[in-house]
Amino acid sequence: MTGEPWSTGVRRGPDGVVSVAGVDVHALAAEHGTPAYVLDEADLRTRARAYRRAFESAFAQIGAGVDVYYAGKAFLSVAVARWVHEEGLRVDTSTGGELAVALRAGIPGEHLGLHGNNKSTAEIARALDAGVGRIIVDSLVEIDRVADAVAARGGEPAPVMVRVTTGVHAGGHEYISTAHEDQKFGLSIATPPRPASEQVAAGPTTSADAAVNGAAVNGAAVDSGAGDSPAMCALLAVLARPELRLLGIHSHIGSQILDPSGFEVAARAVLTLRAQLAERTGVLVDEVDLGGGYGIAYLPGEVALDPDRIAKDIAASVQGSARDLGTPLPRFSIEPGRAIVGPAGLTLYTVGTVKPVRLDDGRVRTYVSIDGGMSDNIRPALYGAQYHAEVVGRLAGPETVLARVVGKHCESGDIVVHEVQLPADVRAGDLLAVAATGAYGRSMASNYNHVPRPPVVAVADGATRVLVRRETEDDLLALDQG
Ligand code: PLP
Repeated sequence: MTGEPWSTGVRRGPDGVVSVAGVDVHALAAEHGTPAYVLDEADLRTRARAYRRAFESAFAQIGAGVDVYYAGKAFLSVAVARWVHEEGLRVDTSTGGELAVALRAGIPGEHLGLHGNNKSTAEIARALDAGVGRIIVDSLVEIDRVADAVAARGGEPAPVMVRVTTGVHAGGHEYISTAHEDQKFGLSIATPPRPASEQVAAGPTTSADAAVNGAAVNGAAVDSGAGDSPAMCALLAVLARPELRLLGIHSHIGSQILDPSGFEVAARAVLTLRAQLAERTGVLVDEVDLGGGYGIAYLPGEVALDPDRIAKDIAASVQGSARDLGTPLPRFSIEPGRAIVGPAGLTLYTVGTVKPVRLDDGRVRTYVSIDGGMSDNIRPALYGAQYHAEVVGRLAGPETVLARVVGKHCESGDIVVHEVQLPADVRAGDLLAVAATGAYGRSMASNYNHVPRPPVVAVADGATRVLVRRETEDDLLALDQG
């Protein structure tokens, strides 16, 4: 039991008992209870460093700078924000809550980004207060919201990136594939045919209107009439507002991407848009963010994207695109989340009810119920995500059964592992670990059925440390006003 999908600190001893970074699972369960998210600190730090080094070195070879932002949505706590920052990463946040955690961790504002397709005015104000390094705007209306907020408070123009959609559809599932057209994120680079009735007749009243109807950029009138893509309109709208500083263009194409070609196609599209904007306005934006989505291994035998390989491929591809376009390279950034924290985590559960169920085809499936479920890992129910589980507290015989690991919630879709071979003698009281749950586990957890959320326990050099404590019934009842 070494290697992917387990973190590098996971070992199975001769007695069958598994340990993480030197702490065995019985000790973890005794001290912290189950279910518990267990995070291998050294593994997480190593992955963060590997991504930074791989991209820095590949992009240095083509003469471009690069920043790696850790996508906090995958999992963010004060300690994790500090770890990744210590490893040279910046932090990407997508809500006021994530921003609050990063600020509590002491990450300087200029190393933070704020995403979100529906940022509130309070979130925008907070980002401006913190002096975040970039606000990634997601719609025309938001451009005005941010600019108006800056105008109201005065001060320096806010650094803004425009999130565009390139039409590249990548990743495992529609809900986590974010750059095709029919979804809520970003502004399309495609120019849809627009009926005359949809065009704004009156003169511009906001920067969004200005971008649609024509705007003055760098003192020159720029016609962004009927033919422009929403992405181009947004870029022009940002340029038209003196309260904003157009830092660059952002594209995120999806998640759990195992085929790197999508990144290259999207990068070319973004660099082309950047060149078109320069041709149009004389403004060649400084930065391009290629988003996150780097795939990991969830099952034995799956192979994660290799950061060195992907960094070299993307660097070669953007170099070729920039050469073809005749534009100098911008500074790049990427936003991996899952690839940093996913494989570093596992969830430790205790088995309760074990129930064999005869299937229509005559096979028997053993339903193994654990003491958590869809409230601590919604991804199988939400995306059909697949995970791997093993009995980790003892030696098991060679005989196995076809098992399904299910939770304790009142929902038949409460499945954590759809199909896995478990020891035939799997029984109540067994400790069971599910691999690669570090990303989008705790961060997407709920209190469904009033189940308190598990703790996040970090393990390093044979010692444990609680990063996020277990919720209690008192925590839940404290919210209930009676
Ligand atoms: N950046 C943006 C804008 C995202 O929406 C996401 C995930 O949804 C990420 C980065 C991180 O993706 P991943 O955790 O798959 O690397």
